[in-house]
Amino acid sequence: MKNCIFCQIVAGKSPCYKVYEDKSFLGFLDIYPRVKGHTLVIPKTHYKWTYDVLEYDKYWLVTLKLTKALQKIFNTDWITHFTYGAIPHAHIHILPRVASISREPSELDIVPPHINFSKEEMQEIAEKISCELKNLS
Ligand SMILES: [Zn+2]
Repeated sequence: MKNCIFCQIVAGKSPCYKVYEDKSFLGFLDIYPRVKGHTLVIPKTHYKWTYDVLEYDKYWLVTLKLTKALQKIFNTDWITHFTYGAIPHAHIHILPRVASISREPSELDIVPPHINFSKEEMQEIAEKISCELKNLS
């Protein structure tokens, strides 16, 4: 779709911090991260909703593969997945989470506020994730 930013990323017309790619799916860092390593997984074909994706089972298996890599890299306490967002092209968010020292995780932590990382930090995080995925496969 012409005006879809995710379709432009798939077509290579917009840049992304890519961490995973196969013939049907693409994984990259969210440029508005809510935690370190906040990753998006999208189908290369434009579908509006996650549950519209024809290879729904494969979609979640790719998400699982990324989840395992993030779990290892960030030594997570838990991982949050959510499937909604502002872009009308199916995407699964994966948020590697580390418990705050000061308090236990709560419902308020499901979607934490945005944080900023420099380009260099984003690049470094993306490289760590793609290396870990290569080690896992
Ligand atoms: Zn699209």
